[in-house]
Amino acid sequence: MLFKDFGLDTRLMRSLEHFGYDTPTQIQECAIPEAIAGRDLLASSKTGSGKTFAYLLPAINRVYQRKALSRRDPRVVVLVPTRELAKQVYGQLRTLLAGSRLTSALILGGENFNDQHKALQKDPHFVVGTPGRLTDHLEKRHLYLEGTELLILDEADRMLDLGFADSMRAINNAASHRQRQTLFFSATLDNTDVSVIAEELLREPSRVAVGHGTDQHQDISQHVFLCDHLDHKEALLKHLVSNAELKQGIVFTATKQDTVRLSELVTSWGYTSEALSGDLSQSARNSVMENFSRGKFQILVSTDIASRGLDIAAVSHVFNFDVPNPAEEFVHRTGRTGRAGFKGDAYTFVGPKDWYNFKAVEEFLKIQFTTEQVEGLEPSFKGLKAKKTGAKAANRKGQKAKPKKADNRQAKRKSSKTVVHDNRQDGFEPFKLPKKKLNPADNDES
Ligand code: ADP
Ligand code: MG
Repeated sequence: MLFKDFGLDTRLMRSLEHFGYDTPTQIQECAIPEAIAGRDLLASSKTGSGKTFAYLLPAINRVYQRKALSRRDPRVVVLVPTRELAKQVYGQLRTLLAGSRLTSALILGGENFNDQHKALQKDPHFVVGTPGRLTDHLEKRHLYLEGTELLILDEADRMLDLGFADSMRAINNAASHRQRQTLFFSATLDNTDVSVIAEELLREPSRVAVGHGTDQHQDISQHVFLCDHLDHKEALLKHLVSNAELKQGIVFTATKQDTVRLSELVTSWGYTSEALSGDLSQSARNSVMENFSRGKFQILVSTDIASRGLDIAAVSHVFNFDVPNPAEEFVHRTGRTGRAGFKGDAYTFVGPKDWYNFKAVEEFLKIQFTTEQVEGLEPSFKGLKAKKTGAKAANRKGQKAKPKKADNRQAKRKSSKTVVHDNRQDGFEPFKLPKKKLNPADNDES
């Protein structure tokens, strides 16, 4: 199948030429016709598989080809969890809209509120933004969404992790047109929180799943190292960075403080490095990301704000300096490499404090990693005893627990309404993992 077979508007086909892609990826092949047909979608596929175009192309096509429901309200609203991702998606949208009369606005936390108000007064056709700031503008009546035709939630699960559920509901309520279409996209949509909000926001959705969120990514080589303590992790990082054929790398850490400390450490080893976290001003965040995507420095040290969606082709290596929680962030962090058919390496350091998060990752991915060692840096740590299981203990750790009521509801819904596209023989198992809420201090976005 080729892009031209979708019957997309010729203006859109022309702007697509700019990217030089003839053939849609699998998720694009599955999701674009469903979206064009006007269905609500719950769509998932692995990281780096082209989900952005899978929603932007049908969205733009709709705006070109159908009459607007309102003259003033944005026709398409795209919500994403982080400011960095909002900018990236907005950039792709702008390229696809170049030369057309269609207009767009970027609405995100940390940037000038009045400038955004002015941008909204121009009645853009498309709005890309983070949920918190968009809700602020809604409350101030800087925009109305009654005429919005298409609401897209990219990385919907992460927005829930970050505590955006109320903002998502407010936007859902404001976008009240009965013909509104809603699309959810992520590499990981199979959890209870998503199923609850999906039930509120989506109408008889098609479930488009190319593989499972837990499938091993064939372009990412995973390497796991047990570590005794912080110094051990640092020595290992130094060894791996100096021995890898590293174009660009991202080191993920759990805390904002660690980003600065580690970035300074990496710099002291002779590499160029910058730290990214919600502690930075928005202009500093912008310049770090711009410098990194232009290849001006080699190693980005970041909290999970860089874990979702960011698409930088030169990222050849990802390092989990500590193991993420919730477990699915592992998929997203490591998915910053091995994108669009390129190969990548991901290294994960597991110390005693990481052990149970690591086990949760293994459980989530349904695999057991083999660990590797570096000569001279062998660990004495061999792992901890298994924890008592049971719903209560598991819930505390954000790990597997007994299904809640919502799971049953979802299972019922699947059998009654959802169309499943799944390339696995054994079918997909929806919505299982209950999730741990993030520490509010880690919520950098609005
Ligand atoms: P995802 O959201 O699934 O993680 P992205 O939408 O960020 O993936 O796309 C990953 C990369 O693949 C991007 O650089 C994008 O430009 C590229 N890409 C998208 N569609 C295609 C295609 N049909 N053919 C080749 N590359 C593509
Ligand atoms: Mg994406």
